[in-house]
Amino acid sequence: MLKILGKLGLLVTALAIGAVWLVVLRLKDVSTPLLAAYGLLLAALVAGLLWPDVLGRLSTRRRVLVVLGISAGLATLGLYLAVVYYVTDLPVLLALAATACLAWAAAALLRGRRAAGGRGARQTRRALLASGAGLLLGVLSGLSVGWAERRRREVLVRGEQERQAALRAPGARRRIADGAVRVFPIHTGDTIVTYGQFYGGLDGWEGPNGYLRTLLDKAQIAVPVYAYLIDHPRHGLMLVDTGVNWEQAHDHDGYYDHNYMVSRLLTQRDEYRMNPEQDLRVRLARLGYDAKEITTVVLTHVHDDHAGGLRHLAQATVVMDRRDWEHGTLYPYSFDLVKDHLSFPAFDSGAFGAFPGSQDYFGDGSLILLPTPGHSPGHMCVLLRLGTGSVLFMGDTLYTLPHLATGQVRQMTIGGADTIHQIEAARRIQHLLASDPRTVPLFAHDNTRYQSGSVSSAFATGRPGKEGLRELRAHMEAVLTPDWRLRPGHTPRFVPPSSGTRLGRVEFR
Ligand SMILES: [Zn+2]
Repeated sequence: MLKILGKLGLLVTALAIGAVWLVVLRLKDVSTPLLAAYGLLLAALVAGLLWPDVLGRLSTRRRVLVVLGISAGLATLGLYLAVVYYVTDLPVLLALAATACLAWAAAALLRGRRAAGGRGARQTRRALLASGAGLLLGVLSGLSVGWAERRRREVLVRGEQERQAALRAPGARRRIADGAVRVFPIHTGDTIVTYGQFYGGLDGWEGPNGYLRTLLDKAQIAVPVYAYLIDHPRHGLMLVDTGVNWEQAHDHDGYYDHNYMVSRLLTQRDEYRMNPEQDLRVRLARLGYDAKEITTVVLTHVHDDHAGGLRHLAQATVVMDRRDWEHGTLYPYSFDLVKDHLSFPAFDSGAFGAFPGSQDYFGDGSLILLPTPGHSPGHMCVLLRLGTGSVLFMGDTLYTLPHLATGQVRQMTIGGADTIHQIEAARRIQHLLASDPRTVPLFAHDNTRYQSGSVSSAFATGRPGKEGLRELRAHMEAVLTPDWRLRPGHTPRFVPPSSGTRLGRVEFR
């Protein structure tokens, strides 16, 4: 019986250590030496615990209890530290080493008590040495906390200086007030995602399994994060989504609460990349605008890569679907400044094309909110009339043009009803685009040439005109057949990173 219990204990220990490793491996920014050091430390702890010399003198029952108790405790501690501190921090590594020394000292002391004469004295000396080393390492760990905190603050101060310098730099566009609606794509940095999360929805990236794969899969790519500025002659300055902010990208641990385990497991430390030029305020200044002039922000959904810029928009009315605010917010961090002026559409303006409900936001048909749940419970797409045609802001309902081929390319979905809603939303969008050849889609994370080439040149002045819109539709038709299938040359494929780089890229074949 006890033998079986002992084996079970070992199995549990192995699983717990395996779990720690999964979390560590999921953190793709852990450097190899640190990873190896952590592994060696864990292996030493486990080997020490199971060493027959230490435990040989105990009765079997006690031995099993000791092995079970200590290893479960250490594994839990390791898991906690790995999740909360990512185990890459110097303070944590030092603390782990200190703990190991103290455990060793305790074991030596125990052995010394039992042994007689010279052998006992030797064990006591060892215990003293080990506990001394443990205490020293503990003190160093405490001291290094301050050092790590200082470095964090330095990074933030330097970032703010760089952004202020970028804001002062000349080169702002001259604003033109000619009564036309203008739209500017604003690239606010990049986000790192697993390839399958972005393109693999039909390939087993669905539901809980999809989430597990985002934790473990190392096939990663960087995709851009876009917000869109609208300069409207009647309704002032608006933003559709706001991108990420500097702290999200450069002080991830400070921005996201250390102890918020769920967020820790779902987000990763280096998920955003951003240079000072990509700060929302700097981008707006380059276009001749001031973030303080923005009066309305429409969030396609409440995910953090769309809401980070809110911290520069304290004066704006923020429009979003109530369902996202109430049920879908895994990331409430960015809303502190604006949570008192949120606006929730009622979607009572009647059907719009294939959409059973819609919200004519200003009551003049200029901006229509269309519910497209799936990616989040209250996701919406936004249709803006330009005069020469319309743009449809997709949010994250569809990431790129190839995603319109829903039978061939799909993003990761939650599974169940959400997947059904997501596909329904995509069909309604297909219907809308098919019914109006002057409507063009604009995406939030498009990593294809549609965004980097066609969109950026058509919207360079904010006004694509009839010709620009026609070119964008021509690009769309070069990617997709009329029955929403990919033409040759547009099926995405992951290309693994070459040596020396961590991120792969996407190739279209
Ligand atoms: Zn997004």
